Amino acid sequence: MNSWVRYSEDSDFSIYNIPFGIFSYNSSSPRIASMIGDQVIDLKAVAETGIFDKLNIDNSVWESNYLNAFIALGKEITNSVRLILQKELCNEDSILKTTDVFIPVQEVRLHMPVKVGDYTDFYSSIEHATNLGKLFRDPENALLPNWKHLPVGYHGRASSIVVSGTNIYRPKGQQKPADSDPIYGPCKLLDFELEMAYIIGKNSNLGDPISTKDADNYIFGKVLFNDWSARDIQKWEYVPLGPFLGKNFASSISPWVVTLEALEPFKVDGPVQEPEVLPYLQYDGTSNIDINLQVLIQPEGQEENIVSESNFKYMYWNMRQQLAHHTVNGCNVKVGDMMASGTISGKDEKSYGSMLEISQGGKKTLTLKDGTERKFINDNDYVILRGYAQKEGIRVGFGEVKTKVLAAK
Ligand code: CA
Repeated sequence: MNSWVRYSEDSDFSIYNIPFGIFSYNSSSPRIASMIGDQVIDLKAVAETGIFDKLNIDNSVWESNYLNAFIALGKEITNSVRLILQKELCNEDSILKTTDVFIPVQEVRLHMPVKVGDYTDFYSSIEHATNLGKLFRDPENALLPNWKHLPVGYHGRASSIVVSGTNIYRPKGQQKPADSDPIYGPCKLLDFELEMAYIIGKNSNLGDPISTKDADNYIFGKVLFNDWSARDIQKWEYVPLGPFLGKNFASSISPWVVTLEALEPFKVDGPVQEPEVLPYLQYDGTSNIDINLQVLIQPEGQEENIVSESNFKYMYWNMRQQLAHHTVNGCNVKVGDMMASGTISGKDEKSYGSMLEISQGGKKTLTLKDGTERKFINDNDYVILRGYAQKEGIRVGFGEVKTKVLAAK
């Protein structure tokens, strides 16, 4: 495919991508957009040219605060919108060439792409689970007995999921120093978690499990996901019911939802699962995706520092298995629900997806280009996640999620 829109070779938003998001411009209300190169495509303006007429989409769908109503039209419609856009952006005689549908991305504001109903966080990287098991439990038996039999997860908090560019405050809470009673104050061990999340694209019925075979029909697309963690608050509170205030103060996502269809060419086999999993978790076909991931720390006014380079293909449990497991008891899912992967670590230490692992629980120090040191995240640091898939000259990426940490209120 060759588009008449010019963009650089290393753009995440090539003609092969065509993601969906929500933007506003000047004083206009939020509406649905796509993106090519560094141009935002106003889909309400595109719809007015008539190129989507045969799909019979209600005009009100384009002028929404969230993608939910658009996603709920179903993949038959949303995939057609993407394919029609690709065709027009390659057609030298397209009506889009003569209309006012493009706006440079630096002139717009990007919003939360979906209204998140429910948020679930998995724990599906064997390297991450092993690293944490070694740090906090038994180096010889790092994985708990259930880990290779089911994709471990918990229900998170949807209200505090925010889009890239939204500052977060260092959380305050209870911590338990080793040598004193519990104290209350600003978290001292603030951390990122390098994750990706998928967005549910179709409602299921309460009582009806989704099979691994049918899972792709329920997955609309993916975003980058930084699952902020207050390690000291979490350590004291999590027994026996799991993550709570150490996790629910914020998670940050990238603004463009890259469709599962755009990621199809980058599918690869996942790790061999041994022991064999129960029948409801078995699957056919390639189910992992080769997506290069990066975490950077940028102190205020300073250069960016790469602190981790990982890959989504390392995941032990894939999205199909996660969704099959999530619903096997009859739990239903809804359009806009968000399912995060869990921290994505690789085998070598340059690919660890959290400061907890990079600093070995606070034992090792990272020196940044400006000479300052980190074991965890400081106030006024920016944390940036980037990700893209690339194969045979085709690049499909996510852009970034960039968040500034402000001092505790
Ligand atoms: Ca997490």
